Amino acid sequence: MSDMCKAAVFTGVGKIEIIDIKKPVPKSNEVLVKLKACAICTWEQRVYQGINKVDFPFIGGHEESGVITAIGEDIDPKLWKVGDRVVVGLMTSCGVCHNCRIGEEGCCTNFNYENRIGGLDIKGMGGFSEYLAVPLSKIFKIESDLSDEEAALVEPLSCVVHSVNMVDIKFSDSVVVVGAGIMGVFHAMLARLKGARVIIVEPNDQRLDFMRKLGFNECINPSKQNAIEAVKSLTNQEGANIVFNTVGVSKLAEESVEMSALYGKVILYSSYHPDTPISLSPNRLHRRMTEVIGSANSNTTDFITALNILDHKIIDVKQLISKVVPFKDIEYGIKEGISPLTYRVVVKFD
Ligand SMILES: [Zn+2]
Ligand SMILES: [Zn+2]
Repeated sequence: MSDMCKAAVFTGVGKIEIIDIKKPVPKSNEVLVKLKACAICTWEQRVYQGINKVDFPFIGGHEESGVITAIGEDIDPKLWKVGDRVVVGLMTSCGVCHNCRIGEEGCCTNFNYENRIGGLDIKGMGGFSEYLAVPLSKIFKIESDLSDEEAALVEPLSCVVHSVNMVDIKFSDSVVVVGAGIMGVFHAMLARLKGARVIIVEPNDQRLDFMRKLGFNECINPSKQNAIEAVKSLTNQEGANIVFNTVGVSKLAEESVEMSALYGKVILYSSYHPDTPISLSPNRLHRRMTEVIGSANSNTTDFITALNILDHKIIDVKQLISKVVPFKDIEYGIKEGISPLTYRVVVKFD
């Protein structure tokens, strides 16, 4: 067996190359995972575009699934074995800092893009490498016939599970989802599962058509009508009980607050680029008892929940995989992913 494997490495802005790297060797308490699929997140697209700054060379990829090909000697072979299909997650968390120990691995304080993880020689998150050495706390067993590509969407879904769990959605609550990219679609799907009536705000007509196909018929196009007024007119002038903003534009965070009802809850899901400060009336928050809540990343519980949702076919994510590209064409995949008309592009390893 060769002690080398391949990895796609960002070598500069707008540059990604497939090179040979040393194949990671699992420690006694780790497994070796051969990756099968890795979805390309906005985060990696921003690295490619030079918006997210990293030091090169850098291995991106953090939405991955694979199969165990070797297990460390201290691992109980009754629990984990070669051939088990797994989702790999939370690779950037240390497991020992305060936040990790209270179950908030997504807010690990030792997280650093300079970290080398997965036993790789090059820094980065590692999902664009053929192999990763992974501690047991970071693998999640796939229990169904879920495809490798679908399983790669557990990570983004886990972040939305975290976001939706920030609030208590009640039957017939009016929930507005601002933005109908993949994260908006996930929010809409999960809010509907919780019994909400879901209203979509999205300026792209093709994305709105897709939402209607999924059965979300209350759609507002803010380039054609005032979104705040439209939400109010759909809610008897009361506003929405819950608003999820999935678009990283500060102005939309302000508008999300304006759309919310008495006792409304506004969840700021996306990160903001640029991070322009917003202006909110303190009296508006005071008099209408508005809660503005942030949500970022996900933790172990969210991963387990997200994988359960997909394993048990509670939602169907096949329709969100816009393209599957072979590993050798990863650069093409990243470029395709940047288009607003793709949801997720997934890289498939041989
Ligand atoms: Zn991601
Ligand atoms: Zn930590």
